[in-house]
Amino acid sequence: MKIKVAKFGGTSMADAQAITRSADIVKADPARRYVVVSAPGKRFSQDIKVTDLLYECYHKLEMDGNFDSSFEKIRERFMVIADELRPDLDMEACLDEVREGMYKYGSIEYFASRGEYLSGRIMAAHLGFAFVDASEVIVFTAGGEFDAASTRAKLKKKLSGVKYAVIPGFYGADESGLIHTFSRGGSDITGALIAEAINAELYENWTDVNGFLTADPRIVEHPAGIKELSYRELRELAYMGANVLHPESIFPVRAGGIPINIRNTFEPDNKGTMIVPEITDSRKGTITGVAGKKGYSIIYIEKSMMNSEIGFARKVLSVLEYYNIGFEHMPSGIDTLSIVVADSEIAGRESVLLDKIQKTVNPDHVDIKNGISLIATVGHGMSFKPGTAAKLCTALATAGVNIRMIDQGSSEMNIIVGVATEDYEKAVRAIYKEFE
Ligand code: ADP
Ligand code: ASP
Ligand code: MG
Repeated sequence: MKIKVAKFGGTSMADAQAITRSADIVKADPARRYVVVSAPGKRFSQDIKVTDLLYECYHKLEMDGNFDSSFEKIRERFMVIADELRPDLDMEACLDEVREGMYKYGSIEYFASRGEYLSGRIMAAHLGFAFVDASEVIVFTAGGEFDAASTRAKLKKKLSGVKYAVIPGFYGADESGLIHTFSRGGSDITGALIAEAINAELYENWTDVNGFLTADPRIVEHPAGIKELSYRELRELAYMGANVLHPESIFPVRAGGIPINIRNTFEPDNKGTMIVPEITDSRKGTITGVAGKKGYSIIYIEKSMMNSEIGFARKVLSVLEYYNIGFEHMPSGIDTLSIVVADSEIAGRESVLLDKIQKTVNPDHVDIKNGISLIATVGHGMSFKPGTAAKLCTALATAGVNIRMIDQGSSEMNIIVGVATEDYEKAVRAIYKEFE
């Protein structure tokens, strides 16, 4: 029988009503055998996600040696859900066990993981599925690195003996049982790993929007949906900030050639977005989507005749390597080189970095321009249409947005622009409108 893996995100697990909807979706198709859940997310815009409350508990413990007041908020959320859905499940006992574990193990990753653990317990009871703890099947090394080969083997072995199961997302454990987590939004990765290990027919990712949209709905009003997206387009958009899906969740499913279907728990009849190895639909538009992220800086270097100085870029990059700084883009001109880096990479080290670059390549000028946002305009359609970059630049100029950096990959399916962060939203809207 064909198997589907269904992952439900935070909004789909936010309260009893949402969980009931999610469970109904699972029950509607017997192929949905493995269910991955997130911790309860926001019920309304000012609400706090359970995972954030758990981080709050950890910081309270560090500061005051006690996290009781924050833990009460978590207890309250889970008790309300359990009372409504599963009064037979001894939720008080589960919560006490978690609270004890927090004092006993005390690591930030243990704290953060408990939202998924508890939400998995509730969902398993509600569906009448087995509960498979992620700590048994998602493997990390003692140093906290994810171990793909051991995970695949453990998942295969465990799930071959369990027909229907709920597995909490976001975390796993090392050999000694210590809990480790993926980065935020990591339940998407858990779902992808399970889909690959059992060679699922489909990985369904149930969220709160009608699939992947052509732009962030928090910036552009009612952006169009995307019916089909290639793995590569997804990777570019997700990496560049379209956080519907964790950018790292693409690798396991791509390896297995398993399509991902992003669906809306609150509009289950909508077909959402299919993410496939190669797109098959004939698209009308040039671009598939636009996404972006704030929080970048540009290291800007000027030196006459830089282009003919063999090894110039390598020497500059060796400075970044020395300080263990990763970079995003490196567009260059005849006498100029710009290196785009995340603010988090250079925080507190700007002056030593500038000094070292000055000493290493003796440029005419070097500085760091802060307050940059990156916007990616992505689509396979771009490679067949001349003038896409010109259209994009004109749209930004008309909107009064100054382009601080532009980079087009040689694949020609992606144009990245850097703009001042105060222009970010305006720029996204202008690009969206131009290609709508
Ligand atoms: P979940 O909790 O289900 O994993 P997330 O909050 O992680 O959901 O991701 C869904 C959210 O991603 C949407 O509610 C939306 O606000 C945001 N988002 C950002 N960019 C896009 C995009 N291009 N298409 C769809 N949603 C997007
Ligand atoms: N609950 C975790 C987070 O808020 C993981 C997830 O939702 O995927 O980041
Ligand atoms: Mg998510």
